[in-house]
Amino acid sequence: MQALSERLDATVAGLTLVGYEPVGFSALKTVVPAPEALVGRALERVGRQGKYLVFEFGDAGRILLHLSQAGRVDVEEPPKKTRGKGGVVRLRFEGDAGEPGSTSRNVGVFVREFGTERKAAWWVLAPGDDGPLERLGPEPDSGEFAELVLHGDDGRRVHTILRDQRTVTGVGRGYADDALWRAQLSPYASLKSLDADERLRLLTAVRAVLADGLELERKRTGGLAEPKLGEHFEVHARHGTPCPRCGDPMRRVSYESYEVTYCPTCQTGGKVLADRRLSRLVK
Ligand SMILES: [Zn+2]
Repeated sequence: MQALSERLDATVAGLTLVGYEPVGFSALKTVVPAPEALVGRALERVGRQGKYLVFEFGDAGRILLHLSQAGRVDVEEPPKKTRGKGGVVRLRFEGDAGEPGSTSRNVGVFVREFGTERKAAWWVLAPGDDGPLERLGPEPDSGEFAELVLHGDDGRRVHTILRDQRTVTGVGRGYADDALWRAQLSPYASLKSLDADERLRLLTAVRAVLADGLELERKRTGGLAEPKLGEHFEVHARHGTPCPRCGDPMRRVSYESYEVTYCPTCQTGGKVLADRRLSRLVK
């Protein structure tokens, strides 16, 4: 999401919002201010907070965009007229290309999603209103997060903490698996049970997997789609394959909507964690 926001920023920042088409009717989550309030205003930058893309229009306000699981962003130059399958919203921008003598630009940012569940959404926020961003915890590279990991007494499992966007934004289950594997810690360990060395390993690993993931994303060429993440995780969703460190098979614990991948040899002292799916098979 960070790399996507950087690409959008390079493509449309500086242009003026000239119109919008709400393609999906339930996708706009705010009523006031109306999106018209931002029409005619210059887009200053596109950033990211947690899993939200943030389009900043200075003192006019902001547009937030959440792509959910299956959303993607197409940049259309010039904007298309089609509604497209799974359309959420199309923002239309115009402006000059910034170089003397260059022709004016006319760009559409078309958001759509391919999932069966309609979850991608957007918000129009007045200046000073944080909307859904209010509930987001600190970024992983912040001092606040370092303080929590190094000295906090949160009794929850580390994997749970890393997935909780109110505790730390932008890690998520995939990077949580990779970070715990790198730090050689059990996904079931509680934060407060970790000693100083383990805590430091955890903090270092979280920041390292995110930095590596971002570097890979920046190298990606091609579309602006939120990428299929699975490709660049080290261990997430790779159960059954050899651990990249010790070669023993990776294991998983399955939940309703996600699974935890870990190496028993490297992370749990050889202990295989109970898995509902596994125990059903055994019976
Ligand atoms: Zn291993």
